[in-house]
Amino acid sequence: MEWQIITKNEQETQKFANYLSKFTFEGQVILLYGDLGAGKTTFTKGLAEGLNIKETINSPTFNIVKCYYKGKINLFHIDAYRLENNKQDIGLDEYIYGNGVCVIEWPNYIDYLLPKNYLAINILPLSKNKRKITLISNDTKNDEVLEEVKKYGL
Ligand code: ADP
Ligand code: MG
Repeated sequence: MEWQIITKNEQETQKFANYLSKFTFEGQVILLYGDLGAGKTTFTKGLAEGLNIKETINSPTFNIVKCYYKGKINLFHIDAYRLENNKQDIGLDEYIYGNGVCVIEWPNYIDYLLPKNYLAINILPLSKNKRKITLISNDTKNDEVLEEVKKYGL
């Protein structure tokens, strides 16, 4: 199933991600595709806010993974940018199959680690502040999430 939305600024992206957070579940993996500056971390901030996580979310580029345990459900935020397909086993399975929602920036760099089921989100800049956000679910549980997400703004 596929669905898309256009946001006109950073706040709209965060607000939408916040809404999505209402339907996240333990074990969900969210793949965030998009170039540098597309809005992947911005999206994650909105999601975290919706999960009632008060800590600051920033790009985990230098940490690869950051964990947040104080929200409604645990959030594991992975940025695979620096892994660039070098296939080291650094134990990311612990988060990808962990007891929380796992958000992955640059999932294309860890293709070989990705699970069978996920919600893929592609963020495409249309102009300075406009983004086309496409959500693709590939299993029944994420289909259900998308069914709810489709009601956004109605
Ligand atoms: P990424 O993690 O994909 O590299 P960031 O979220 O760190 O990107 O940065 C996105 C940048 O784009 C931020 O400076 C943000 O303010 C800006 N921006 C402008 N419009 C939007 C929008 N509609 N949605 C998300 N970010 C936006
Ligand atoms: Mg980022």
